[in-house]
Amino acid sequence: MINARQSGSNCEEQRFSGHPVVPGIGIGPVHEAAEPALTVSHKKISASNVSAELARLEEALARSRHQLTKLRARLAGLPEHSQAEISPLIEAYLHMLGQSRLTRGIRLRVQDGLQGAEAAVQAEADAQAEHILNLPETDRAGRMRRAEEVREIGRRVLRNLTHQPFRSFAGLAPGSILAASELRPADAALIQPSNFAGIITEEGGADGHTAVMMRALGLPTVLGATGVLAAVIPGALAIIDGTAGEIILNPTEASLEAAKTRLSAMLRTRRALARLQRLAAETRDGVAVELQANLELPFELPMIAESGAHGIGLLRSEFMFMNRETLPDEDTQTEIYRGIVEAMDGDPVTIRVLDWGSDKEVEALSGYVPLNIEPNPALGLRGIRLLLRHPALLETQFAAILRAGSTGPVRIMLPMVTLAAELRESREILERVWRRLRRKNLRMAAQRPPLGIMLETPAAALSVRQLARHADFFAIGTNDLTMYTLAADRGLPVGSKLYDPLEPAVLSLIGLIAQAAAAANIPVSLCGELASREQAAPLLLGLGIRQFSMHGNAILRVKRAIRALNMAQCEAVATAALAADSADAVREILEADRQRLTRASAQPRM
Ligand code: PEP
Ligand code: MG
Repeated sequence: MINARQSGSNCEEQRFSGHPVVPGIGIGPVHEAAEPALTVSHKKISASNVSAELARLEEALARSRHQLTKLRARLAGLPEHSQAEISPLIEAYLHMLGQSRLTRGIRLRVQDGLQGAEAAVQAEADAQAEHILNLPETDRAGRMRRAEEVREIGRRVLRNLTHQPFRSFAGLAPGSILAASELRPADAALIQPSNFAGIITEEGGADGHTAVMMRALGLPTVLGATGVLAAVIPGALAIIDGTAGEIILNPTEASLEAAKTRLSAMLRTRRALARLQRLAAETRDGVAVELQANLELPFELPMIAESGAHGIGLLRSEFMFMNRETLPDEDTQTEIYRGIVEAMDGDPVTIRVLDWGSDKEVEALSGYVPLNIEPNPALGLRGIRLLLRHPALLETQFAAILRAGSTGPVRIMLPMVTLAAELRESREILERVWRRLRRKNLRMAAQRPPLGIMLETPAAALSVRQLARHADFFAIGTNDLTMYTLAADRGLPVGSKLYDPLEPAVLSLIGLIAQAAAAANIPVSLCGELASREQAAPLLLGLGIRQFSMHGNAILRVKRAIRALNMAQCEAVATAALAADSADAVREILEADRQRLTRASAQPRM
């Protein structure tokens, strides 16, 4: 039982707004995500290990510079006074990570002192911080601040050297609301949803990979709630409304009562939706639609089963590579895929091979893409390009998927395809792996699984006819397709207006793909976040999409929307949207259609 007194403070109620990313109400004590303690080995290294140790160090320095450069780019979205405050600090950090006294000192400790990179970073940062504190300057506060900056940069390099996460969620009271300035996808993978009532961050885009992971967790989530962290009192009661995008710190009794009422209403809606589970996903005029689930993390499986999904349309295999220092081998991967395929009990599982890069960082793979030669990871060795550069990664994954195919139907999907040659080359590798496994007589799929591709670059969308000659199926990834079409990062803060999948340019590409796929008789699904927006259902149906894959939480809501539609109206909506000249105009068209449906009392068939 929660009551206002639990907040343990006499503070006034404060409200913050952000972007609603995962609907729902959460009530609980709020805690800021803390950094876990670092453990550093002080073992000496041998002279023959010096160059390897220096290479590790350079990689960690490059990674740290890369993180701070990204942070600097994000400052543009902040008010001017905040920029003026934070910019010099980031510049100072970047300077320290370049050719500075600090990095020279660290290298010398490794080269001449034969210290391991971690020990060298810690010792040099401590020594320089001490030196600053002892300078004969009168400005004590300034000296303390500069010393702390050196220590802070040392901690960042150490985390990048040891691949230890920046966040720890252990030790928080069950039912807490987690607040953080930013969460990485790998941080999100560490969150156990049953332990939390909600998630708040100050940064992050609505279709960034962290938001995707949050939807998978199903916890009420509000992103981009600027200023909330400064007001959080650890342990004080808070309410998060992931539907309205609102956070209330230190709520009054009246606010608490109102939140509880909304929570009960939501639970009633959820029970009503559950009744749709066994009903068909079809429009009022009988057009059948297939609804599948996206899977980010294996714990989603029970929720996917409850959603009535027809299989998994997108298994993002990145989770297997996160928060670990070594790559999972073939047997480990086989076991994980088999568990999922078995749980789906005969429904198909579409496994997408690793999509590393851009906003998805995988520590275990850092050696594969030296960050200092990747000025823009979103435009470099990402997805299938990385895998083809290191075919052993792809071979291992293909082998594991083929072996998992002995337990049920699997399909293999390639991420970030830009050129037909990438698909042809991948198919040759798959064929080689297939023949090798057959020779070894291993338990595996009886037939070659279908090999399909994600369409998420404008080049792929525009070459869809050529790709149709080589692909067994298509899946439209609107998250990246939007980013690359509009040249706007999917991780941009919500409200930046640059990134919007409803822009007519993106819709035209979706329509083009749907038509070409129908002409070539190739199945096509849409598996970006747009699929889970029920308001977009008439538009996407009208553009010709009949198969959707989305996080399990959204399936019944989208099914309810589809069952209220008829195709003639969907086609009219799509035609109007394609002729519109902005995403806002498309939104108005969708809103007018929603109101028309309400006026006509077109109730979904429950
Ligand atoms: C997409 O880009 O729409 C997609 C589904 O892939 P991801 O979000 O994993 O990049
Ligand atoms: Mg993508």
